[in-house]
Amino acid sequence: MQLKDIYDVVVIGSGPGGLASAIQAKKEGAESVLVIERDKEPGGILNQCIHNGFGVEIFKEDMPGPKYAEMFIKEAESLGVEFMLDSMVLEITPQKKVYVTSKWYGFNEIQARAVVFAMGARERTRAQIRTPGFRPSGVYTAGTAQRLVNIEGFMPGNRFVILGSGDIGMIMARRLTLEGAKVERVLEIMPFLTGLTRNYVQCLQDFNIPLQLKHTVKRILGKNRVEAVEIVEVDENFKPVKGSEEIITADTLLLSVGLVPEIELARSVGVAIDPTILGPYVDEEMQTSIPGIFAAGNVVHIFDLVDWVTEAGFIAGKGASRYALKEKTEKVLIPIKSGNNIHHVVPQFIKKDALEKAPIKLMMRVSKPIEEKVWIELRNENNLIFRKLERYVRPGEMVVLTIPQKTYDEVFKSNTLYVSVEKFGG
Ligand SMILES: Cc1cc2nc3c(=O)[nH]c(=O)nc-3n(C[C@H](O)[C@H](O)[C@H](O)COP(=O)(O)OP(=O)(O)OC[C@H]3O[C@@H](n4cnc5c(N)ncnc54)[C@H](O)[C@@H]3O)c2cc1C
Repeated sequence: MQLKDIYDVVVIGSGPGGLASAIQAKKEGAESVLVIERDKEPGGILNQCIHNGFGVEIFKEDMPGPKYAEMFIKEAESLGVEFMLDSMVLEITPQKKVYVTSKWYGFNEIQARAVVFAMGARERTRAQIRTPGFRPSGVYTAGTAQRLVNIEGFMPGNRFVILGSGDIGMIMARRLTLEGAKVERVLEIMPFLTGLTRNYVQCLQDFNIPLQLKHTVKRILGKNRVEAVEIVEVDENFKPVKGSEEIITADTLLLSVGLVPEIELARSVGVAIDPTILGPYVDEEMQTSIPGIFAAGNVVHIFDLVDWVTEAGFIAGKGASRYALKEKTEKVLIPIKSGNNIHHVVPQFIKKDALEKAPIKLMMRVSKPIEEKVWIELRNENNLIFRKLERYVRPGEMVVLTIPQKTYDEVFKSNTLYVSVEKFGG
């Protein structure tokens, strides 16, 4: 492939967010679209997710991650999207110069008309949760263990304790059990599950793997290799309950303690970052605070279903193409603020006239679980604009509220919008 000096759209990252952005940018008329990926093949995290659970929303079919990725890779290739693999973006400028170092092309400066950030997320590590003990081998993040088992064909241990009830941890509990390992326990510091209920049922319950809520790792024992893990119960302030300590013999500790958006490139170019979720602020087109720079997927906030990452990628790709082709849109933005029991909402802004084109999907997570019927409400300073009934809300499961176009007038005259969870009957 001969690299061009200028591309309409450059997408950084080839996971589901990046692939969908590239496909949609092409379909919306962008002539040249380049996807840059540091790995040797496209697909992102999907390549190591050989379990089922992908595509249920979009294809109404339950498929493994690599198959889901392959469908989009083939479509992108057939549309003429170019791929630059084994290539790492080091920096970009607000003028959209992309500096990339590549195994195949050396060091390059590529000019883009629009850029989509689709760099995904990385896992929180032991250093970030500050677990005391020596530094023996046998402590892995769950995603690293998944890569070792599913791609490299290497078992990281025999007896496991998993810290965190996130989806990756639960999926690995099942995977390791299927490979013949013993998963002694999954521990969760919160009083509730942090991953999807679906994964709790299919990965832990079905395999008799015990989950212990309100528990954490107090200490890692073992100097050269993990020998045991001391666990402890915590109270409502996350303080250890004296006398509740227990030692579990294990040779490996897996950490599944959360994902953090991969935003170093975004931060260095000066994109405004939402401090609650550490992803860039975006509007309803997934455009960041720098015109012409868009974001899609886990780099914005952590999604639970890949299908929603893909949908967000379609939106970002459409926006990027429109920007590259110099279509004009309204610039006045209305902020969307988190109200009662809303941890965060994405997008954090919408353009005043956004509903003219299509309904707008708001994606949010709640702070606390409520196991009864609730309203998810959208209000402005004065009025209730729209609400939707949910049977329950849980922090591990994203809540979606689609603002219908019929609310255009009410939204247009708002200065600020608020989303909140309210009691049913209230
Ligand atoms: C372990 C695990 C299990 C999951 N299981 C399920 C499931 O069963 N069902 C489901 O629906 N969802 C599941 N998900 C969620 C889903 O896979 C993710 O939400 C989705 O992959 C995120 O897509 P993305 O495009 O944002 O990022 P990613 O897939 O992470 O892709 C980001 C890409 O960007 C590249 N990149 C980053 N920085 C640079 C750079 N500077 N230069 C070049 N390239 C760069 C990376 O190499 C990577 O390939 C799972 C996620 C994980 C982590």
